[in-house]
Amino acid sequence: MYNNEPKERVYGWGRTTFSNSMVYRPSSIIQIHSIIEDAKKRKLKITCRGSGRSYGDNTLNSNQIVLDISEMNKILSWDKETGLIVAESGATIEKIILKCVPDGWLFPSMPGTRFVSLAGALGNNVHGKNEFHRGCIGEYVQSFDAILADNKLYTCSRDKNVELFYSIISGIGLLGVIVNVSINLRKIPSYYVNGNVKKNKNFKELIEEYETIKGDFEYSIAWIDAIKSGKGLGRGEINFGNLINDNDYTIHDHEIPKRLSIGISNDFLPLITKRILNVHTMKLVNWLQINLGSMSSDVQKTKVSLSKYHYLMDMKFPKYNFFFKHGFFEYQAILPIQFCMKGFEELLKITHKYGFYSLMSSLKAYRNQKEDFLLHFPLEGFSMTMDIPKEENKISQQVKMFFEMNEKVIEYGGRINFGKTPILNLEHFENMYPNSKEFINIKNKYDPDYLFESNMFRRIMNITREGCEVPSIYSI
Ligand SMILES: Cc1cc2nc3c(=O)[nH]c(=O)nc-3n(C[C@H](O)[C@H](O)[C@H](O)COP(=O)(O)OP(=O)(O)OC[C@H]3O[C@@H](n4cnc5c(N)ncnc54)[C@H](O)[C@@H]3O)c2cc1C
Repeated sequence: MYNNEPKERVYGWGRTTFSNSMVYRPSSIIQIHSIIEDAKKRKLKITCRGSGRSYGDNTLNSNQIVLDISEMNKILSWDKETGLIVAESGATIEKIILKCVPDGWLFPSMPGTRFVSLAGALGNNVHGKNEFHRGCIGEYVQSFDAILADNKLYTCSRDKNVELFYSIISGIGLLGVIVNVSINLRKIPSYYVNGNVKKNKNFKELIEEYETIKGDFEYSIAWIDAIKSGKGLGRGEINFGNLINDNDYTIHDHEIPKRLSIGISNDFLPLITKRILNVHTMKLVNWLQINLGSMSSDVQKTKVSLSKYHYLMDMKFPKYNFFFKHGFFEYQAILPIQFCMKGFEELLKITHKYGFYSLMSSLKAYRNQKEDFLLHFPLEGFSMTMDIPKEENKISQQVKMFFEMNEKVIEYGGRINFGKTPILNLEHFENMYPNSKEFINIKNKYDPDYLFESNMFRRIMNITREGCEVPSIYSI
């Protein structure tokens, strides 16, 4: 029996939650078929996992199977004339950058870490700091192959198995296993950006300024001091830039530093931060950032490599997710443009009211989506992330706070991101995601016995299975 097999502890990226699971790392499509066949015989459930960069419980599966695709990571073909790449779905953006940037092509829509797999990129239909210009990755997918619950391989594209194409992309691994992907990369004039910055005194200034910047600069993101209250609520700085037109495709500043610039080893850093990182120390860090710009000055240069510019967290704090004793929640909400100022102010005020402050926050611009992937996160507006350390002995208060924030997000017609910490219940899911019912109908059609489940899915849908009870919201 699988259930007697040794289990591995698998974490969400935010390290607030984990599952003990049978983890399988297939290296071929044939092996995936046999895992599915066995799981069905033994009535076990399968969760798909790529690089495990999602923060919450969408890749966890207590006492069941986690199918980790990361060993299937070969690039199958690369056409440097057309920019079409075909790869196994465990291939990472990192691998594609190293292969294709020297030929003048780039992954069109890169999330804030380059270690995301193609499968995970499709599963959450990821976007980057250029969402306002380039949308999400789904727009660039030509086709993919996925093995569904009937254990058959389906090729999905805009012409073939169209319903599956639009629901597996953004479908958080709940319909089948993506095994390979064809994606159109984008031609670039260089791998370098000119980095600019504008500081702002509060949300009103920040959003008004961002509105004037977002159309002219492809890459942009704002950092926000989420602790400051009163007149300075929402103060921060916008970083923005365009690709430079000099045909320089050398990949510089790519290696992840082993040490911080002040000499402390990145491996050692979490031991310090676990003791000293809190709202008081972050007030000081935020003050330094506002007054000296010390955290982002290295990317505000006339020529800075995209590796450094785009992958700030990978480069600056590769062990960031180990910084907190009980992990951290990353709550990411998006709101329609007309409600951003008011809505984000209210969300921050809720965190202040409960005393669970966001120690790191960012804001990004989004355009209207060109295609309707069923569970996609973006809508025309802005999103804000909030990194809030988990406090185990106050978890019920924290969940209460997040639910209050969800109500606000729903009131303003927004939603929260499944790839970050998905602290939501069924009612929130249905109210935030207009296609949720259609998605569940498609799941019922292609996976009637619910072979593909995750802790997140059982938690939201309130499903109990033998050997795995409904995961509690407090286990998030
Ligand atoms: C530092 C950091 C910055 C980030 N910045 C951004 C950002 O700017 N924009 C953004 O959109 N996201 C961002 N993210 C979130 C991240 O991009 C997404 O969570 C992404 O989906 C993770 O990909 P992964 O390969 O790690 O997949 P996982 O996290 O392992 O899985 C993601 C989803 O895909 C499903 N899945 C995995 N493999 C398969 C498969 N073979 N078949 C079918 N489904 C599968 C999983 O079930 C899961 O639901 C960031 C994450 C981090 C850690």
